[in-house]
Amino acid sequence: MNVAGEPSFRDSVDLMFKRAAALMDMSPGLQEKIRVCNSTYTVRFGVRLRGEIKTFTGYRSVHSEHMEPVKGGIRYALSVNQDEVEALAALMTYKCALVETPFGGSKGGLCIDPRAWDAQEMELITRRFAYELIKRDLINPAQNVPAPDMGTGEREMAWIADQYARMNTTDINAKACVTGKPPHAGGIQGRVEATGRGVQYALREFFRHPEDALKAGLTGGLEGKRVVVQGLGNVGYHAAKFLYEEDGARVIAVIERDGVLLDDKGLDIEDIRNWMTKNNGLLAGYPRATFSPDGAAALELDCDLLIPAALEGVIHLGNAARIKAPLIIEAANGPITFGADEILRQRGAVIIPDMYANAGGVTVSYFEWVKNLSHIRFGRMQRRAEEARSRLLVEELERLSADQGLGWQLTPNFKQKFLQGDGELELVRSGLDDTMRAAYNAMREVWHGRQDVQDLRVAAYIVSISRIAAAYQSKGL
Ligand code: GLU
Repeated sequence: MNVAGEPSFRDSVDLMFKRAAALMDMSPGLQEKIRVCNSTYTVRFGVRLRGEIKTFTGYRSVHSEHMEPVKGGIRYALSVNQDEVEALAALMTYKCALVETPFGGSKGGLCIDPRAWDAQEMELITRRFAYELIKRDLINPAQNVPAPDMGTGEREMAWIADQYARMNTTDINAKACVTGKPPHAGGIQGRVEATGRGVQYALREFFRHPEDALKAGLTGGLEGKRVVVQGLGNVGYHAAKFLYEEDGARVIAVIERDGVLLDDKGLDIEDIRNWMTKNNGLLAGYPRATFSPDGAAALELDCDLLIPAALEGVIHLGNAARIKAPLIIEAANGPITFGADEILRQRGAVIIPDMYANAGGVTVSYFEWVKNLSHIRFGRMQRRAEEARSRLLVEELERLSADQGLGWQLTPNFKQKFLQGDGELELVRSGLDDTMRAAYNAMREVWHGRQDVQDLRVAAYIVSISRIAAAYQSKGL
């Protein structure tokens, strides 16, 4: 993906950090301390598979321990390497600070093609990788808490949690050693959709500020906006689905690894996803839209909103000048390189940066971790008490209306909604919405409040770096 002259992913993140840090009143020593990656552990381990020993290489990088545990996903892909893991760990640090999840930043990765192995083999490999990390406290509820990332999901997290429990039989908080587990294994409702849901909440908040939308030359809300989505994995799928089904956005293109589906009238995301599940993850052959194998060209389509939700570095020096979207939300980590970012900004595009845009995942991970440590599901104590209180009010209103002959009729829809106490899913969504709104407004204050800040990425870094600096300073550094 990299074009000649482009820095590595890690360098790109560093350059973005430095652009913001240069505007801050902070000693170079502290800047350096915040920027550098604390440690990266490389593990090579063997697993007996298909009659022979296969050796795998994995990483767990800890970028910053200004707060512990440190947090970040584990990626399974053949392209995983140290530079990438360190860049992603750094982004985790900044992301956690921005959305106020009380964690430092970390990331893990395993060089593997997850499609090449069956479930039983994947379990053996995952448990062995987890074993290597657990015995070094690189997975631990108090020190380092992984989560899903590209190529991993609930299944892998459940194996990791079980592996930790087997190795720490008396740790009452064992379940909190990893997040993104399935609900039946200590997970939380709404974690799978969380990153995509966060993208939706971020966009809703953006459009609540007409003057911000206007900076991208856009008016109105999400309704009818023409959207191009790259990547229909967990993040892209949920983001596109919610924007289409709940906000009335028109998804005109969906890009995947074998090409792009196009329809100017809008695509049905659920229908496409069902097609992909049945067709080996491929778009080709989908009967209800136009298919083209040139996915990269579709990034350059005329649209209102571009959502890169796949890999890093997809918008680079080689194509940035041709990207037409006035608004880009980075659902993936690092989809725009440092150089491309500059080209897009000069052209006037508004970029909602990754560390904010995709923070929904780690936010709900935080809720899951808290749930595991408190050993009780959210809402369990309050739900019925809340319902009883609401019922009291409704019954009193109805009694008053009858007594006074007022003829008031509460609509059945209102009554049903009002009488229903919040369960875990509703509470998780409420907490996520609140987090996304608060973080946007923290960035916005810097974006609008400072003459020398022209874009949301620099604003995000400034908010986040100042919080990390405060944490270091209170530790005596
Ligand atoms: N891998 C996700 C991310 O990049 C989630 C991390 C987490 O939940 O800890 O933000």
